Amino acid sequence: MDIRLYIHVPFCVKKCRYCNFTSYIYSETAANAYFDSLLQEIKLYSAALSPREKSLSSIFIGGGTPTCLPVQKLKAIINNVRESFHWLPGCEVTIEANPGTVDRQSLFELRQAGANRVSLGVQAFQDCLLDRLGRIHTTAETLEAVSAAREAGFENLNMDLIFGIPGQTGEDWLETLSGVVSLSPEHISVYGLQLEEGTPMERAVARRELQLCSEELELFMYQAAIRYLTSRGYVHYEISNFARPDRKSAHNLGYWLNQPYLGLGPGAHSYLRGERFANETTLVGYAGRLSRGEMPVAAREDGSVTVEMSETVFLGLRLLKGIDLAAFYRRFGRRIEDVYGKEIVLLKEAGLVEVAGGYLRLTSKGLPVANVVFMEFI
Ligand code: SF4
Repeated sequence: MDIRLYIHVPFCVKKCRYCNFTSYIYSETAANAYFDSLLQEIKLYSAALSPREKSLSSIFIGGGTPTCLPVQKLKAIINNVRESFHWLPGCEVTIEANPGTVDRQSLFELRQAGANRVSLGVQAFQDCLLDRLGRIHTTAETLEAVSAAREAGFENLNMDLIFGIPGQTGEDWLETLSGVVSLSPEHISVYGLQLEEGTPMERAVARRELQLCSEELELFMYQAAIRYLTSRGYVHYEISNFARPDRKSAHNLGYWLNQPYLGLGPGAHSYLRGERFANETTLVGYAGRLSRGEMPVAAREDGSVTVEMSETVFLGLRLLKGIDLAAFYRRFGRRIEDVYGKEIVLLKEAGLVEVAGGYLRLTSKGLPVANVVFMEFI
């Protein structure tokens, strides 16, 4: 089976106020150490994996902000992956970028190196909201980044958006949606803001300097996104994701179908040979292990069939199409109703899931409360 490769670049220009991901403020010294370690990790896996495990159907360079690395380094990473792995025909190669960290030249060079999809962290179309989030870019820079990406030859763009930002109104959100659609990206992701513990935004909310949106407003925003984007020709194919009909994210589809992937870089997670494992999260721990010639894995979890079935169900339910019941049977040799009969009956009675055309899926009532549904299978 082919696999998906994720490369984590743990640097950002500045920390956003709501973010608790593993990422460091960019410095040349730290980036050089990271770069040398990553090439070493690629080399170790190149020697350890079988040819089938080195056949890549997608590559995702994410972060952090990968594009705060110098473009020469990013190109070297892509070239190293090309030399050490086998890219299957049509391999989707995504690079995450923040407007404000790319220009036409850097995007052109990345396109020439083999990247064929850019995922832009747009978030909102109002500078005051971007500022409240602590983002480094402005709406003008979003427009520049999109036109630079198109001029550089990218025909596959994703834009990430956030709703539920403190102070964001329904009108702001509708303006963001229409602004984004006017740029014709092939893919749009919409996420509700999560207030993460220990972040400056959480502290500001606790001090009552910021006020979160009400649950009603958040629900309105989510449903407005579904209505607006589907009316503009985007297919709502996953809880938070919309795409032109042939532009679903191949990389993320692999996660939702619970297929194998390899993650490289500090804090990256992998699911390979039925085992889940995670790398050292700190740069020092990650680089230290690699400098001793060791894999930088900090934690391993043997997957039992029970866990694999549960993951296959709650990940698959994220897809609007749902879980292919025949594929579930082929994978596990058991019917889903025989494993989760009680849970499915309860959820059906509550109107949160349904079985249709050979798929078990969320209903429109189940979509906004998907996390409650998933809990039944964990
Ligand atoms: S750019 Fe992304 S990873 Fe970096 S601090 Fe902001 S939200 Fe976090």
